Amino acid sequence: MLIIAHGGAGTKRPAKKALKKLRESLEAGLRILKGNGSALQAVIEAIAVLEDSGLFNAGRGGNLQLDGKRRLDASLMEGSTLRTGSVIGLQGFMNPVKAAEIIMSSPHRIMTNEGAAVLARAHGLKRLPAPAPSELERLKRIKKGPVLDLYKKHFSTVGAVALDMAGDVAAGSSTGGVLTMLPGRVGDTPIIGAGIYADADTAVSCTGKGEDIIRVALAKEVSMEMGRKGAKRAGVESLKKVLKLGGEAGLIALDSSGRFVIAHTTDTMASGYADGKSIIVREGFTRVGLTRGAYR
Ligand code: ASP
Repeated sequence: MLIIAHGGAGTKRPAKKALKKLRESLEAGLRILKGNGSALQAVIEAIAVLEDSGLFNAGRGGNLQLDGKRRLDASLMEGSTLRTGSVIGLQGFMNPVKAAEIIMSSPHRIMTNEGAAVLARAHGLKRLPAPAPSELERLKRIKKGPVLDLYKKHFSTVGAVALDMAGDVAAGSSTGGVLTMLPGRVGDTPIIGAGIYADADTAVSCTGKGEDIIRVALAKEVSMEMGRKGAKRAGVESLKKVLKLGGEAGLIALDSSGRFVIAHTTDTMASGYADGKSIIVREGFTRVGLTRGAYR
């Protein structure tokens, strides 16, 4: 039994309340695992806690696109069945991860904005209020900065991976995108194989500059390499591929025997894990650089 959650790769030191919320998120996931619940349910609950908090770039705290709209993305994948569900550009709902869950049980795999909103409404998902005036003010300030400054290196998407008592694994992620983005921009988070991936033995969830994560299909890359290289080497070497493109990223990944990696190219990545014995939450874990020995 193991759950790992993150609150995004970044350059800023995570606030104490964000680390506290990550602990709550791990506790929520762990409760499910301890009650013999599935890895998938643990991932959904852990992510929903972070979406509800407004402290991360997901759910209530998701970034606004340049037209002032909050279009949210999320995805889920269950390892043993390879079932997936992704939502892209969901507006007006607090928990895109729950929309991804609904889509997972529908005949479809990916749904976008209005179609996804119809399903979310029909299932009574919690509504999200319109952006607050302070958020619109902040957007005005962002618009005055360099155009499409994706390189801010502060991402704060949320994600989780879990291993349940039956030995099944699952992965999920939820985001408001990057700080500056044109309306309609989509990153890696809802793209299966890029933002997340899970199979019978591995589960991976990524954060960072989606534009580059997609190019290396980061989650699938890590998943494929884990069997041969082990979690840590697979995570570190795959992140170097993103660095070589000039991107920044972070990831959490585990395998069905409980080995795992938490790694990031950025200074920080608020993250933690809970294995039933202890809960560890930190500002960062394995820092990855391009040169040998640059990571700890
Ligand atoms: N990966 C996300 C995206 O590109 C951003 C993040 O990790 O915060 O949409």
